[in-house]
Amino acid sequence: MNSPTDSSTEVVFQADDAKMPALDLLQRALALRATDIHVDPAEDDYRVRMRIDGLLEEYCRLGEDVAQHLIHQLKILADQDIADPFHVHEGRLKLPTDNWTCQARLTTSPVEGGEAVCLRLHSNEALMRSLDDLGASPANRQALDEMLRRGAGLILVTGPTGAGKTTTVYAMLRELELRQGHLNMVTIEDPVEIRAPFLRQLSVDEQHGLTIAKGLRTMLRMDPDVVFVGEIRDAETAETAMRAASSGKYVFSSLHTRDVASTVTALRDLGITDWSLSANLTGLVSQRLVRRLCQTCRRAQAVADADRQFFQDHGVEPPDQIYQAAGCDLCRNRGYLGRIGVFESIVNHGDLAAAIIAGASEEALRQQMRSGGTLGLVADGLLKVAAGITSLAEVKQMHWL
Ligand SMILES: [Zn+2]
Repeated sequence: MNSPTDSSTEVVFQADDAKMPALDLLQRALALRATDIHVDPAEDDYRVRMRIDGLLEEYCRLGEDVAQHLIHQLKILADQDIADPFHVHEGRLKLPTDNWTCQARLTTSPVEGGEAVCLRLHSNEALMRSLDDLGASPANRQALDEMLRRGAGLILVTGPTGAGKTTTVYAMLRELELRQGHLNMVTIEDPVEIRAPFLRQLSVDEQHGLTIAKGLRTMLRMDPDVVFVGEIRDAETAETAMRAASSGKYVFSSLHTRDVASTVTALRDLGITDWSLSANLTGLVSQRLVRRLCQTCRRAQAVADADRQFFQDHGVEPPDQIYQAAGCDLCRNRGYLGRIGVFESIVNHGDLAAAIIAGASEEALRQQMRSGGTLGLVADGLLKVAAGITSLAEVKQMHWL
């Protein structure tokens, strides 16, 4: 096989290759830390792209016959009907047992011009990540710890899609398992992305009537100590999750909200009363991912006056120098290698609980948290800029602030 290049239109996979092109592609993707592989029909060939550190990059182009061979193999690995390219198919790849350090879910869909393929990859390393590996600051780490000492209640991890929420929840569940052991932990997810040996996991199956709300009610009848509901999307799920949290169980879930304060608004909008929120909420975590600077080639720079002001506006002492991305062989000239979590987290106690029950507005809650010393997402990102872990550009580009 030839090495792919960024602008290459050459075929890097041969249909008669002795190795399985599907597994070969997977191996190449894992080596690049890709989280998704896309194979899509283009004008007269197929385009292979990979999402690496959050960004979609073209990897190579494939001729029609080679692409078909690849898709065929992927479908066989996922136990899909290879004779039916006319419907959407989803499935988990059954990888040869040895040496595979990832789990992969395949979705194939008929699109204009052929069949599109998306492969979502989850490395087992991400699944086994501990709380210490997430990149939380000491203050955020302490907040997460305190949430896990509470013993019960609702813990919500929020942020946009792809912000690392599931990894954080799994790290918290693992930590609980390590600390207490013998916990009955159940999850209801849409779908189960990562299989974890210490969990009993249920996938949503709307075709057969198994919605998140219904799955949650089923799970609650299975004597759980800890429940993870993939996402709270409707009032019924929110209400059921709150009731479970009030009965002494740990309930973890995620919401698509901007920050910690807006999560309170979202829960109110789902019909949760201030009283119930105040009593049953254990903690809120909001999260984003930023790219880590390649430590080999990062370049020091002075902090411009406007940027000093930006640090000060967010309550962070401006450093003497910061680093920007450059590029070297190690990072494939991207200037970045891997990603790290940026967090805002708060344990629901005293002042916050009182403010929620008093019906404080979202903005008032935000102000109260800031004056109480809880740093916002941007401030947490800026601390990582000051420490040379990421660039100012990355923090300024964080989604949805
Ligand atoms: Zn580099």
